[in-house]
Amino acid sequence: MLQAMAQAEVGDEQKGEDPTVNRLLGMVAELLGKEAALFLPSGTMCNHIAIKVHTQPGDSILVDQQSHILRSESGGAAFLSGVIVEPLAGERGRFTHEQVKASITSGSLYQPATRLLCLEQTHNFGGGTVWPVEQLDSVCQVAHSAGLATHLDGARLFNAVVATGVSARQFAAPFDSVWIDFTKGLGAPLGAVLAGSQAFINQARRYKHIFGGALRQAGIIAAGCIYGLEHHIERLQEDHANAQLLGLGLAKIAVVEVDLTHVQTNMVYFNTSRTGTNEGQFLQELLKQGVRMGMVGTQIRAVTHLDVSREDIIQVTTAIQQLLDN
Ligand SMILES: *Cc1c(COP(=O)(O)O)cnc(C)c1O
Repeated sequence: MLQAMAQAEVGDEQKGEDPTVNRLLGMVAELLGKEAALFLPSGTMCNHIAIKVHTQPGDSILVDQQSHILRSESGGAAFLSGVIVEPLAGERGRFTHEQVKASITSGSLYQPATRLLCLEQTHNFGGGTVWPVEQLDSVCQVAHSAGLATHLDGARLFNAVVATGVSARQFAAPFDSVWIDFTKGLGAPLGAVLAGSQAFINQARRYKHIFGGALRQAGIIAAGCIYGLEHHIERLQEDHANAQLLGLGLAKIAVVEVDLTHVQTNMVYFNTSRTGTNEGQFLQELLKQGVRMGMVGTQIRAVTHLDVSREDIIQVTTAIQQLLDN
């Protein structure tokens, strides 16, 4: 990947003249089945720009209660777009078309108009869980028939593709806008691509300038993203197998609570609360052994990725077993 980056042909990205960025945009638009695409520095900026294009200040948008837009973007939707973020009580990040229907308001003197439905595939804080394509289609259909736009946060879309065999294009089909991240499973240092209709991307490009996301010789970054697309998609299967292995290993430790039915992709959520262990302290101890995990709410989140091998997983399981036995 570094070699590809070092050898990249470059140009002025904000003028649309970087050949490597343009090649990446063509690849992503094709993969996602959209007319056009836009290169951005981060996934968060993809969400912000999409929300900005799809709404006016004072509108409301529907998201899952555990969504990245609501929980991890520092109120950006309110700050940058002036929208009300309406949380849906999803189950592991997934909600039903009935819930969507019941939450849409058409706008009045008293109520904001609901303009946009957002969802995540896979769902991060839901556990790396996958939306079945039928459920995804049904919520989007309800949204569209009420005049809403639909937006897919596809930070980990390829994890869902690899886990199900459904194509990225099929998952993206019912959405007006969709983006993928290169810094998650695909293993690039920087970059995300937002896709949609040509009209959507034209507007998005203006907000990219306004938000300070227009770049110069971005080809060095885009080359890493292309490398990720060409070499790191199929291998996500290894991350999924490693998450399964970790989940199974943790399930054998009596004091660990882990629900294996939710280990669907590259994440394992678990807790050790039955031992009365201080989880913060536990994670500190684990870090001393070179294993970094994080807290999401009351759960510990372990994420497998291309720098974690099967042998590492076995070592991690042993380390946890020892820590909790002491
Ligand atoms: C990581 C992530 C983002 C944000 O992406 P960045 O590139 O880190 O800004 C958005 N949504 C989800 C679901 C994510 O996991």
